[in-house]
Amino acid sequence: MIVKEIQTAAYLFAAILFILSLGGLSSQESAKRGVFYGIIGMAIAILATVLGKGVEGQIYIVVAIAIASLIGILVARKVEMTSMPQLVAILHSFVGLAAVLVGFGSYLDAGTQELTGTAHTIHLVEVFIGVFIGAITFTGSIIAWGKLEGKIRSKPLLYPGRHVVNLLLAIACVVLGAMFTMAHGGDGMLYLYIMTGIASFIGVMLVMAIGGADMPVVVSMLNSYSGWAAAAAGFMLGNDLLIVTGALVGSSGAILSIIMCKAMNRSFLSVIFGGFGAIAVAGSSEEIEGEVTSLEHDAVADLLRGAKSIVIVPGYGMAVAKAQYPIFDMVQALRKEGKDVKFAIHPVAGRLPGHMNVLLAEANVPYDIVFEMDEINEDLPNTDLVMVIGANDVVNPGAQDDPASPIYGMPVIEVWKSQAVVVMKRSMAVGYAGVQNPLFFKENTEMLYGDAKESVDKIMSHLKE
Ligand code: NDP
Repeated sequence: MIVKEIQTAAYLFAAILFILSLGGLSSQESAKRGVFYGIIGMAIAILATVLGKGVEGQIYIVVAIAIASLIGILVARKVEMTSMPQLVAILHSFVGLAAVLVGFGSYLDAGTQELTGTAHTIHLVEVFIGVFIGAITFTGSIIAWGKLEGKIRSKPLLYPGRHVVNLLLAIACVVLGAMFTMAHGGDGMLYLYIMTGIASFIGVMLVMAIGGADMPVVVSMLNSYSGWAAAAAGFMLGNDLLIVTGALVGSSGAILSIIMCKAMNRSFLSVIFGGFGAIAVAGSSEEIEGEVTSLEHDAVADLLRGAKSIVIVPGYGMAVAKAQYPIFDMVQALRKEGKDVKFAIHPVAGRLPGHMNVLLAEANVPYDIVFEMDEINEDLPNTDLVMVIGANDVVNPGAQDDPASPIYGMPVIEVWKSQAVVVMKRSMAVGYAGVQNPLFFKENTEMLYGDAKESVDKIMSHLKE
């Protein structure tokens, strides 16, 4: 058994490793190191907890960890990169559920019932808040999973008076909280159950009210909630490391949410209160003018041969097609011919913050040719050719000129300002936000239909001719 002092030192060391891990994850070059620090930190944290004072029945814990690790390894090996956001969402729901169960357990624990006075009240408040955050995180994450998996429509579910209903429910929870803290000898369990039901409903409604294009913020926001739920569990269990770790995840998730809101030009509060001020329209109000024209792979190869400066804008379709590898082969071939080729990444391209950066890093694309939206937009008027590969919403000019569009106000990559644009996708289908894209109708834009990977392979074979 580990003595208390050793456990405290181990917790401190693990907390430092978690901070180093977060620091490492802030840039692609150091991300692997960051993950490694996280793994070591977590291993130390688990060992120090399981071997710590007051923990009995280690064998059950070890068996549970072994089974869960096996499931984790199998799921992680099987999951496609395109399904990562769903996996992250469902993992957040586990943290929420864990906080709820820890709350129930902690309330029923004999130690809690023996507490008296202020200590008792403080502990009950911890339990109540922990279960409240946990329940919202649990159901909200399940709805987010459903929306990302396409099992639930991504269109916002808005009904009149929903903010009043949410407010009344929140007030009901405060009243239940007061009754819970005043109840004696385990009588508060009923209040705890009712509040769990209400909080679960709030979680469902909050995420249901958020529309397709705002989902990136929801994913990072639920990440933050799961951190606060873990911190609350830390308070309930009196575990300092869980409090520190939860606070790290909670605050980094909140910072990420704010960054995502900025990137999408959305107010943070309007997103977290679920569709506040959202426009309840599914498509654009304007008739799109112009005609859609398409070309074949050999013609795209000719355009590439003729262009000096080329910008590639990847999107979710590149992830689906796993086209990053052949794309990088093509980029290398073009760069060998002295062409200036760059990648342009929109902050919410794909289905996960940093999704495109991860895919390009996987294909060993050097970071110095990968540019953020703000960096590239000013270069686009001087660019000969833009290849939009599996992106749609992030290059939609309607975000700038159609006030009725659900993505109106979201900054986009202004590809239409370049000399010529080729959009590679399989059909005229809409993107995640469910809105038609006027880019496809512009005079300087040509469509190249087909799976992104197959198209790039065919273009490459024409380039080699
Ligand atoms: P979009 O979802 O707007 O568009 C992707 C396009 O890729 C589709 O229109 C589809 O058209 C095409 N596509 C799909 N499969 C293939 C394939 N095999 N080959 C070629 N094309 C393919 O993606 P964007 O990246 O432009 O935008 C991301 C959207 O997702 C934004 O609305 C964002 O808000 C949202 N979102 C982002 C999250 C994040 O954190 N990044 C999280 C949740 C949502 P077709 O079917 O015709 O091929």
